[in-house]
Amino acid sequence: MAKIDNKSEQLYAMRHSLAHIMATAVQQKWPKAKFGVGPVIENGFYYDLDLGNVTLSEDDFPAIEQEMQQIIKQNQPFEKSEMPIDEAIDWAKENNQPYKLELLNDLQRSGTTVAKDLDSEELGVASEGGTKVEKVSFYSNGPFTDLCRGPHVASTSKVGAFKLMKVAGAYWRGKEDNPQMQRLYGVAFETKEELDKYLAMLEEAKGRDHRLLGEQLQIFTINEDVGKGLPLLMPRGSVVKSLLGRYMRQIEEAEGYSYVDTPVIAHERLYQSSGHAQFYSEDMFTIIDSEDQKFYVSPMNCPHHHKLYEKLVISYNDLPLKLAEQSGLYRHELSGTLTGLIRVRGPITQNDAHIYVTPGQLKDEFIKVLSMFKKVYEVFAIDDYWYRLSLPDFDKDKFEGDKQAWRAAGDIIRQALEEFGADFVEAEGEAAFYGPKVDIQTRNVLGKEDSIATSQIDLLVPTRMGLTYVDSDNNEHHPLVIHRAILGSIERFMGFYLEKTAGWLPFWLAPEQVRVLTINDSVKEYVDQIREALSGVILMQPLKYNEIRLTVDDRNESLGKKIRDAVDLKIPLLLIVGPRDQANQEVSVRTQVGEQKVKLDQLTEFITNLK
Ligand SMILES: [Zn+2]
Ligand SMILES: [Zn+2]
Repeated sequence: MAKIDNKSEQLYAMRHSLAHIMATAVQQKWPKAKFGVGPVIENGFYYDLDLGNVTLSEDDFPAIEQEMQQIIKQNQPFEKSEMPIDEAIDWAKENNQPYKLELLNDLQRSGTTVAKDLDSEELGVASEGGTKVEKVSFYSNGPFTDLCRGPHVASTSKVGAFKLMKVAGAYWRGKEDNPQMQRLYGVAFETKEELDKYLAMLEEAKGRDHRLLGEQLQIFTINEDVGKGLPLLMPRGSVVKSLLGRYMRQIEEAEGYSYVDTPVIAHERLYQSSGHAQFYSEDMFTIIDSEDQKFYVSPMNCPHHHKLYEKLVISYNDLPLKLAEQSGLYRHELSGTLTGLIRVRGPITQNDAHIYVTPGQLKDEFIKVLSMFKKVYEVFAIDDYWYRLSLPDFDKDKFEGDKQAWRAAGDIIRQALEEFGADFVEAEGEAAFYGPKVDIQTRNVLGKEDSIATSQIDLLVPTRMGLTYVDSDNNEHHPLVIHRAILGSIERFMGFYLEKTAGWLPFWLAPEQVRVLTINDSVKEYVDQIREALSGVILMQPLKYNEIRLTVDDRNESLGKKIRDAVDLKIPLLLIVGPRDQANQEVSVRTQVGEQKVKLDQLTEFITNLK
């Protein structure tokens, strides 16, 4: 669950109070409204509503906002009260609030409403996991009362500036077989200025939404019959994915990585021995075959690679071993969280590698990984990133293994980061179950912090799976493993990078690099001459041996229309060709920044110098 990054508790209370004010307004307009949960989220709040056969649309927002402003003006105090849970259950029944009733029943039964999909904070319910709840708290303002643990501002006038943003369908508690509710979203800030600034940023981000760009640039599509979170890459998307994969393979092979290919499913035995079946089973798709054998669809490559290690490594002379793979993995993400290419069920093509090392090799190899991150991000002009070193919270039960080994590994990684001169922060309690990790953090177009890639140290699984090597002392030892994915998942990186570049991919990565646009049919032969001149031109940077991807638009359409179509696809280089260009043996070169004439015999040089 994403952490809520609120500037202050005050802002949190404002946003939360606005959820109540919005619910108050909704209840006044639709007295039979049934309420789900109304949590604070990043930049604002929402409330899940069941309005029977009333479907909200943006047209309803002004009226709801006006009603909210009335409630704000009336300065109703927020008053807290407590009730034994039995009475609260009666309250929910009397007020015909079946969703609240369900939450209260959960609380009474198990002391928690924590399902995998929602935590208690989102539910806005007082709960201490596992312990019996006897009393629950309510907050009232004016005519509205809500099951809630707060906090709230003192009264309705103290809520800053807000705006309703959208309404979307949301399954109750995020599960598809539950009723669908309407989730009404608002944003809120302490001041009008901050709100306006945020709205302006949102407007800017709209043009960068990778889901819209993916559609416009014909990169990917999602088909309901194939399934949610299972994007289909279109021809242009497939070109981008393959270029990214080739580029990574090129630099990894130059650094001594060996590529392997392993199946995308494995017998459950493999995941039992790796520990994933115990720690990760909810996130894995399962297959029962006709012989009643259970298989898991790989959520990660590691266990397969560990089996290759057994085959490839005998002694310390075989280390470090660097195995890399780009196969499509699948993870069972909840349907409510799926987003374009950024959050998918699959394929998740990790730009994955496992580096098996002796403890003595760990620091140097980790520094090499850091320098590969740096090199690759330079190529993509990603410079606003930092490293986050995640160490376990030793008090939490998810922690497993030898504390001393964990501390030692954490220290080595910290040293590596320091020696490398990396800009890093430390976070406790974010580590994987098998060891400390380093995430590469950046901000997305909305300024939200996000991980783009990760590198982890595995202290546990090599031992658990019995991986060994014979050291110079003739004794058997367990190797350590560095898991690293420089681009993270290639699909996710595509989504991130489309947003970063607003769809203007760098020349080497553009699925269609050059489009020749004819002014009329008289230049057909000249177009052949241009095509001839550019065929066989090999681009070398950063991807070696790459032929130019060129098309010709000689449709019987106006030049204006041809240009518009090409610009819609954000093709980096347009060559506009008319009879005069033919006579002068030149072309009009149009790029994102402007237009210029280039002589035909200088065109190759012009293109090979493009970035
Ligand atoms: Zn509340
Ligand atoms: Zn791994």
